[in-house]
Amino acid sequence: MTLLVVLEHDRGTWNDANDEALTAGRQLASDMDAALHVAIIGDGADGLAEQAAAGGAAIVHVVSDPLLTDYGPEAYGQSVVALIEDCEPDAVMAIGTDRGNEVMAQVGARADLGFVANCLSVDPSDDDTWTMTRAQWGGSLLEDATLTGDVKLLTYGHHVVAAQECTEPGAGEVEEFEPDLDDELGRTVVVDRQVLTSGVTLATAPVVVSGGRGVGSEDGFGILEELADLLGGRVGCSRAVTNNGWRNHSDQVGQTGTRIAPEIYIATGISGAIQHWVGAAASKRILAINTDPEANMVVKADYAVIGDLHKVVPAISAEIRGRQP
Ligand SMILES: Cc1cc2nc3c(=O)[nH]c(=O)nc-3n(C[C@H](O)[C@H](O)[C@H](O)COP(=O)(O)OP(=O)(O)OC[C@H]3O[C@@H](n4cnc5c(N)ncnc54)[C@H](O)[C@@H]3O)c2cc1C
Repeated sequence: MTLLVVLEHDRGTWNDANDEALTAGRQLASDMDAALHVAIIGDGADGLAEQAAAGGAAIVHVVSDPLLTDYGPEAYGQSVVALIEDCEPDAVMAIGTDRGNEVMAQVGARADLGFVANCLSVDPSDDDTWTMTRAQWGGSLLEDATLTGDVKLLTYGHHVVAAQECTEPGAGEVEEFEPDLDDELGRTVVVDRQVLTSGVTLATAPVVVSGGRGVGSEDGFGILEELADLLGGRVGCSRAVTNNGWRNHSDQVGQTGTRIAPEIYIATGISGAIQHWVGAAASKRILAINTDPEANMVVKADYAVIGDLHKVVPAISAEIRGRQP
């Protein structure tokens, strides 16, 4: 049996979601008793084969064509379909980033195969009918699903699998693959990329200190900036804050903002509405600071301080400063 894992990169820059993909892929391949193949599509892919092998890949399919230089959903989707016809995997998996789900949806539609997105767990023990649990509505609803078909298509939810070191690297044998692609598949292609934030971003920050309506003003965020700096983190906010014009939308956590997965999420003056919670739910630990002990964020948090954030946050910063050498 063969499991094909589709990895992500931009012109040779490895996407961290690949570490999750390889961790999940190793487990699924083992459960299927299958060989682990990976597909790396587009310019700069060859340089990543070693990294994929270190992550357990037995075979690395390096997929290239002028149309694949930069990401385009149709060309990438059709390339995976062509690769399925070539190497006949039993299942194809990716991580459910925006791009991962888009490519797999293209594959499903083009090859007329069933696709289950954003899985939390997958049971392939029955070859014909796999069962899986997946997250819907940003994690507020769990669905049990079954998947049939000659080639099973699925993604694991982004940040669902904790990336782990691989103890048994794969052979990483490189197989070049040049699909036959129609020019029409280049209708939607990424042509330019502007990095708006350098260094630690909200999505990748190990600590996020967020403020909600309870912060009270734009200036009120000064104490949150200070705490975030002390912890090497980033400041986030709720939509009430962006609606009030206190912070930019790029700082907003939630359904219509950024989905975060920090080690620690400190949510201050935020009630924890479902649209905010879905963006924060993947945080490893949550500390809520709120005057309302019944606030949803307080109820769901691992730790809570019931009090005025304008007093609690500076007190935490003072404590940290006091412990610094
Ligand atoms: C389609 C749609 C999409 C949305 N997308 C998002 C999204 O992406 N992100 C998002 O955040 N929201 C989103 N929302 C809005 C969401 O429903 C809530 O309205 C919003 O999250 C509320 O923000 P808040 O918690 O800051 O404000 P509130 O709900 O007003 O809560 C303020 C909290 O601050 C506490 N508080 C007040 N003063 C203090 C103090 N001095 N010290 C400590 N605590 C204090 C209060 O007890 C309260 O819990 C969306 C809504 C819709 C309809």
